[in-house]
Amino acid sequence: MALYHDCSIHELGRRAHEVTMRLHPEPYRTYVVDRNINYANYCTAKCIFCNFKADPPGMDTGRNDLPPGYVLSFEEIGRKIEELLAIGGTQILMQGGLVPADMLPFEWYLDLMRFIKREYPRIHIHAFSPPEIHAFHEIFNMSVRDVLVRLREAGLDSIPGGGAEILVDRVRNKIAQGKTTTEQYLHVMREAHAIGMRTSITMMFGHIESVEERIEHLRRIRDLQDETGGFTAFICWTFQPGDTPLGRAPQYPPHETAHPDGKHLVLADAHEYLRMNAIARLFLNNIANVQSSWVTQGVKIGQLALFFGANDMGSVMMEENVVSAAGTTFRLTEQQIREAIQGAGWVPQKRDFYYRAVDG
Ligand code: SF4
Repeated sequence: MALYHDCSIHELGRRAHEVTMRLHPEPYRTYVVDRNINYANYCTAKCIFCNFKADPPGMDTGRNDLPPGYVLSFEEIGRKIEELLAIGGTQILMQGGLVPADMLPFEWYLDLMRFIKREYPRIHIHAFSPPEIHAFHEIFNMSVRDVLVRLREAGLDSIPGGGAEILVDRVRNKIAQGKTTTEQYLHVMREAHAIGMRTSITMMFGHIESVEERIEHLRRIRDLQDETGGFTAFICWTFQPGDTPLGRAPQYPPHETAHPDGKHLVLADAHEYLRMNAIARLFLNNIANVQSSWVTQGVKIGQLALFFGANDMGSVMMEENVVSAAGTTFRLTEQQIREAIQGAGWVPQKRDFYYRAVDG
């Protein structure tokens, strides 16, 4: 909080970059070539920042702005992976809605893992964020540990940190009803780390949270990392208001407003993004990697983030559906990412999920 209130953006950047240089003194900055695959958009949750979901049959959230529901076939997923392999991709980020059990049984997810590993053994499967894993635990009546172990046996490699938003229940109850509580989210991460699975972790900010709640979010992450050491990377991005119910709320477009309980509420622009990225780099001293969020911020701010705590440009993201359903997002090819890294003064280095160098 002291850093947030007392440090200028330049000072934060300088301090965060010192830490980045200590952790990553090498002359290169990394990126990964992967693809989002959103296997299904049916979802029982009611996140008011989401324009991606569809109500499952029998559920009516009263929103008439939602897209039609779908579940991808294994063949469609296979085709997407082949397109990814054709451009030298190494991993898929696969997430979906919270799909009811009668639409997709647990065996479907296991079969999907086995199908991918059988057909595309070189592909790293980074899939099922904690809200999905927690939903499997609830609807299939299995412990979180059993869900994770069975998915891993079928081929799951790691878990993405999606769905964290802000890990404070006051915020989650307001913007992400029907999704995991903070404790449930962290429990999935703890269990994943306990069986030796690595995960990333995220933060979506600039909506209804106070600055105190952002710091609380970072504290929960830092504490769990002290306990398990399982997080590979931290990624934060700003809420994309777009035409979502939350984006249509009266406090937008972004500006500073009074917070109902008197705390400090700041809606986020690029300046705010860089400040929070730098604070996260300084506070999360136990997480090795911080990714730049050029997808929401654009390539120029993405480059600047490499001097505000980030050491990685994240992914080429051949396909992105969730954030882009809410508003404008940016697209870059691998060549453009390499040029962006070079333009910022670094050597571009392609990597895998574990931040190991990959040729080509
Ligand atoms: S953000 Fe995810 S969990 Fe929330 S409504 Fe959208 S698809 Fe469902």
